[in-house]
Amino acid sequence: MTDVINPATEQVVTTVPSASAADADAAIERAHRALPAWRAVAPGDRARLLRRFADAVDADVDNLAALEVANSGHTIGNARWEAGNVRDVLHYYAAAPERLFGRQIPVPGGVNVTFAEPLGVVGVIVPWNFPMPIAGWGFAPALAAGNTVVLKPAELTPLTAIRLGELAREAGLPDGVFQVVPGKGSVVGQRFVDNPLVRKVVFTGSTEVGRRIMAGCAAQVKRVTLELGGKNANIVFADADLERAAATAPYGVFDNAGQDCCARSRILVQRNVFDRFLELLEPAVRGVVVGDPAHERTEMGPLISSAQRDSVASYVDGDVAFRGSAPDGPGFWYPPTVVLPRTPTDRVVVEEVFGPVVTVQPFDDEADALRMANDTEYGLSGSIWTGDVGRAMRVARGVEAGNLSVNSHSSVRYWTPFGGMKQSGLGRELGPDALDAFTDTKNVFISTEGDQ
Ligand code: NAD
Repeated sequence: MTDVINPATEQVVTTVPSASAADADAAIERAHRALPAWRAVAPGDRARLLRRFADAVDADVDNLAALEVANSGHTIGNARWEAGNVRDVLHYYAAAPERLFGRQIPVPGGVNVTFAEPLGVVGVIVPWNFPMPIAGWGFAPALAAGNTVVLKPAELTPLTAIRLGELAREAGLPDGVFQVVPGKGSVVGQRFVDNPLVRKVVFTGSTEVGRRIMAGCAAQVKRVTLELGGKNANIVFADADLERAAATAPYGVFDNAGQDCCARSRILVQRNVFDRFLELLEPAVRGVVVGDPAHERTEMGPLISSAQRDSVASYVDGDVAFRGSAPDGPGFWYPPTVVLPRTPTDRVVVEEVFGPVVTVQPFDDEADALRMANDTEYGLSGSIWTGDVGRAMRVARGVEAGNLSVNSHSSVRYWTPFGGMKQSGLGRELGPDALDAFTDTKNVFISTEGDQ
């Protein structure tokens, strides 16, 4: 059994069983046995079941959100959005079963058609920072394409995933089609990699573990989607609306207490407006409302654990320009913190902090901005602030990252593709193409020649 801790109070919320390798294998076996019947469900009926699942999530949004506030310290506003995102992703991919088109390709002597075949059992491994959305981005398209799913939540945050498993059953998904197996990554997650009945692993988490999973999957040429870390740039040009760029920058990095792979944790500002930008940024950072995540007005809650707080604190050593506030007392609190790094190779500039810490650095011109933005092994997201549409497009094409926003920090919509370049990942989730990641193309030629 594992204790589940409320990170805002350090109280034990509940305890959850931790599955063994044998439990994981049994779940994988059940998922494998459920495959033929699930594949055979008529497209319209599979769609209906997914819509019912979405409706069950919708009816449970407040409960799911409260669970996430207690388990993860997410603000109540964010947690409601996250539960709603699972519902929306399910609805979006519920439209897929009747639209899993193949192609008819002209050939002599017959008919050639392609089919989008399900892969089989899909193992989804979820990190602790966004337990609900990241689960849904994996299981919804996988199920829609006719696969069965075993899902392992992060050790620290299993509660909403367990509830989503119950809701799937209540909505009528057949036995074994979608199972949630809480447990350790090195035990349950490792079985997803090693058990040959699992035909695809969808992994979201650190680049270090992702690399090991990819290497493990290679042994069986197992399909893999990886959503890994980020060290994303927020590039502010002198011709931008500086007031808006500064007012929004804290929310581009401190949302979810900075525990976000898309956090814009490196602010790059054109040198001739650098001081002015910092003047505008300071009140915006001090204004971030940090506190009890259950309060409607709270904008930032605690970090997930004391270990995470220690890790975040280890990046900050005396170069703090200014800080926001954080409560005293129990809870894994850390204030929004702005750092002016001494060198471009400081750990805080190079590594993913995964906490409410942002660096601000000056650049000279467009080429310099691109060089600095791309000076990282990661390539997940980023923002570009400018009033010049040509520059916006040039820089957007030049930044090596999968998800960019211009004069905005938003990078996630369930109907547009999401994923990383370079060591931020492999493959894309969400949007119209995600089903390709859960199907293999089969080509069939049918001869029309015969006795005439
Ligand atoms: P983590 O890599 O430690 O763990 C992620 C998941 O992998 C957990 O469920 C864990 O139990 C499991 N795991 C650990 N070792 C394993 C193993 N040997 N085999 C199989 N599974 C194993 O990451 P974390 O600390 O939970 O999450 C934070 C990281 O996730 C950050 O680096 C963040 O950037 C990244 N992240 C990326 C995205 C994205 O979409 N690109 C989204 C969210 C988080």
